[in-house]
Amino acid sequence: MLANTNSQTTGKRLMNRKSLLGLGLALFFIVGLVVWVQPASAQTTSSGLTTADVDSLLYMREEEKLAHDVYVTLYNLWGAPLFNNIAASEQNHTEMVLALLNQYGLADPAAGNGVGEFTNSELQALYDDLVSQGSQSYEAALLVGGLIEEVDIADLRAELETTNVAAIQQVYQSLLSASGNHLNGFANAYENATGNAYTAQWLSDADVAAILSGGNSSGNGNSRGARGGGRQGNGGGRR
Ligand code: ZN
Ligand code: ZN
Repeated sequence: MLANTNSQTTGKRLMNRKSLLGLGLALFFIVGLVVWVQPASAQTTSSGLTTADVDSLLYMREEEKLAHDVYVTLYNLWGAPLFNNIAASEQNHTEMVLALLNQYGLADPAAGNGVGEFTNSELQALYDDLVSQGSQSYEAALLVGGLIEEVDIADLRAELETTNVAAIQQVYQSLLSASGNHLNGFANAYENATGNAYTAQWLSDADVAAILSGGNSSGNGNSRGARGGGRQGNGGGRR
């Protein structure tokens, strides 16, 4: 009885507000259409960049720092100059991304963080895991280097697909090219140390084969020049 009365009242109320409801639905539909037409990744922020670009820069700032920090740590453990040389290149890369953060007025996620400290918890966990793996042996450390470069290449390729900002594309292309050189350096050192061929850990076998043969898909035609170590790779990342 009570429920019936309530539903009748509600029904009347709805009837009375029928035109208002219609207007609301129309507005809802229009707003929904606008949001649908403009996906979240295309929405711009106060920096003038899309949210996807901002996320990408914040992540790459720390991803390049992770590469640097892991290599510095592995150099201290194993003393192989390769790690030190490539670490210097990674320092340059993380600073190139920092320059973009500054250019667009974005806060630096790495500010105040020392070696092995990350704001992004995923990258913190990854750093801890990679250092643990690379501490097992020199050969394991070289594989960690290869894995970092493969992941970096995959991430940079994905970010290059999503951004339309020329300044970001230019930096990422440079980082991508250097990563191909670094992967060559680690793969060659691994082969020299173990007598075994380096095999793909993150990218496809075909991708890695192409990058290591120098006829690569990482965007540079001279990764063959990186054979023998990180010296050339170091230069490859400079502006
Ligand atoms: Zn790098
Ligand atoms: Zn690298």
